[in-house]
Amino acid sequence: VKKAGGVRYGFYHNKMTQAFPDKMIMETHLRRAIELNELSLHYQPQVDLQNGEISSVEALLRWNNRKFGAVPPSEFIPIAEDNGLIHSIGAWVIDQACLQLQAWSRQGISNIRIAVNISPQQFAQADFDDIILNALKKYNVEPGLLEIEITESAMSNMNATLSMLKKLKKIGVKISVDDFGTGYSSLNYLRLFPIDILKIDQSFVREIQSECKDAAITKTIIHLAHSLGLEVVAEGVEEMAQVSFLRKEHCQKGQGYFFSKPLPSREMELKLLSIS
Ligand code: C2E
Ligand code: CA
Ligand code: CA
Ligand code: CA
Repeated sequence: VKKAGGVRYGFYHNKMTQAFPDKMIMETHLRRAIELNELSLHYQPQVDLQNGEISSVEALLRWNNRKFGAVPPSEFIPIAEDNGLIHSIGAWVIDQACLQLQAWSRQGISNIRIAVNISPQQFAQADFDDIILNALKKYNVEPGLLEIEITESAMSNMNATLSMLKKLKKIGVKISVDDFGTGYSSLNYLRLFPIDILKIDQSFVREIQSECKDAAITKTIIHLAHSLGLEVVAEGVEEMAQVSFLRKEHCQKGQGYFFSKPLPSREMELKLLSIS
């Protein structure tokens, strides 16, 4: 019996060495990522589909670890969300975005908005509005130049969401719904919440030329945004045919590899300087 147990343990242990320690080692490194200066923000432009202008960019977090190299956010954000690190990392992202806005404004790059991604856990913090307000004050940033991207999953608690969004609206930051159409929420929140922007999820945009359902959904979201007086951004735009479709449907902005991949701060800055 003892032996069989040992064998079972050995088998279990093997499985664990494959799945768990990876995550645990990563977590250990992630804990020190801020102090070791391993985090950075890259910026991806959101392009006006009528005149080609850039009036906003999305900040996307990058982690370059000495041991693992570049770890994609799809791997380390969920870990940070599980262990609570997302609070310090998320606050760092907001701080950096505001610092960047200040730096750009000093270089004559004005009126470029930065959109930051906010995890549901961050958004649920009772003092989330203070974190935003403090960062804006620290760098003397005009609130309208900061945009908060939240997903439908962050909006599950109606009362908490409404009161936080009202506070943020009062501060003057812009609010967008990321990955719109992929969550479980009802359209009711579009009626109740003070939202400024809808971002059409890239899964709908991907097949707009070939899948008539995706085309229909994309058109409907664009028209819905228009009738509610909201800005609308299509994500994951990779091809000219998508641009043509979106233009025809009067989608305001597009974001994706067709225009630019996310760029390091300095490269984004040079791009903005060359057009401003
Ligand atoms: P997201 O917010 O939906 O960001 C868009 C993702 O699509 C980014 O991946 C971007 O690089 C990628 N992308 C942009 N254009 C194209 C395109 O034309 N085609 C395709 N296939 N992909 C495109 P990334 O940078 O790997 O980020 C993945 C996700 O990680 C983000 O999805 C967001 O949910 C999360 N994330 C990134 N930065 C942060 C952050 O600072 N805080 C939080 N909480 N989450 C973040
Ligand atoms: Ca986003
Ligand atoms: Ca998105
Ligand atoms: Ca997302």
